[in-house]
Amino acid sequence: MLIRIWGSRGSLPVSLGTTALQEKLVKALVAASGKNLDTADKARAFLAGMSDFAVSHTFGGNSSCVQIDTGGAEYVICDMGSGARELGNSIFAEHGPQKTHTFHVFMSHVHWDHIMGFPFFAPASRPGNRIRIYGCHDELEEGFRRQHSAPSFPIEFDQLPARIEFVQLTPGRRYDIAGLAVTAKSQSHSGHSFGYRFERGGKSVVYSTDSEHKLEDLREAEEFASFFRGADLVIFDAMYSLADAISVKEDWGHSSNIVGVELCQMAGAKRLCLFHHEPISGDEHLAGIWRDTRRLEEITRSGAPLEILAAYDGLEIVI
Ligand SMILES: [Zn+2]
Ligand SMILES: [Zn+2]
Repeated sequence: MLIRIWGSRGSLPVSLGTTALQEKLVKALVAASGKNLDTADKARAFLAGMSDFAVSHTFGGNSSCVQIDTGGAEYVICDMGSGARELGNSIFAEHGPQKTHTFHVFMSHVHWDHIMGFPFFAPASRPGNRIRIYGCHDELEEGFRRQHSAPSFPIEFDQLPARIEFVQLTPGRRYDIAGLAVTAKSQSHSGHSFGYRFERGGKSVVYSTDSEHKLEDLREAEEFASFFRGADLVIFDAMYSLADAISVKEDWGHSSNIVGVELCQMAGAKRLCLFHHEPISGDEHLAGIWRDTRRLEEITRSGAPLEILAAYDGLEIVI
């Protein structure tokens, strides 16, 4: 399976401003001095080999949207944050606007940052497309319809030409959807959220965002360790630092990189992907969190290594 991150930011999309962009350019130009980068290919190779991730990349600005590419004809997507706009556009670019598709969309919840890409998801405007939206909330359909209503948006939900269906799932039950075994799990978040575990051909990926964990609640930790058990990849809400998560931002419904490492180690997961980045965090700050998390994993490791990834828009992970 191939996992593509289309939106990695939490709460609100952000863009890289001119000042931050120029700072990256300055650092790259200084690092390149004397390297004779007189062709685009040489410059690209230099960038690809740069060790300072915050200079050569940006963690990206779109809100939550992740694609699970099973290699099958149907699309599997987690959440419809602003990253869904680029996903929809890339499907049109690849197949042309006339080809019709089936989409399976798994919703963690219907907070705005997780649905805001749907009005701009071009396949919803194409007759013949079929979009099945899965979730465990009673308000799943209402959440989508409301953001399409006047005075917030000019196109009513019922005017969308695609065939859109809502499918309510029961947490803990195993479903067979688009060639994947799918199980949902209830998570602690304002209004609740749901994580999903997807399995196929002995591989597994867990999408667990907008989820707060209480470190002292051992029963809850065991439940999540079992949900993450042996996963090839856990995409995890690491929005806050641990200090924030247990003090000022306690009960804000999010988790930290440190809790992610702990739960994934308990679960024997293979890779942890830090996700739902705090909008005020710049690239250097996020690269620092990523570095610290890798170090933490090394010094607390007791079994097989847990690979630490940090989500950015455009990241592709093969499991
Ligand atoms: Zn969110
Ligand atoms: Zn939320």
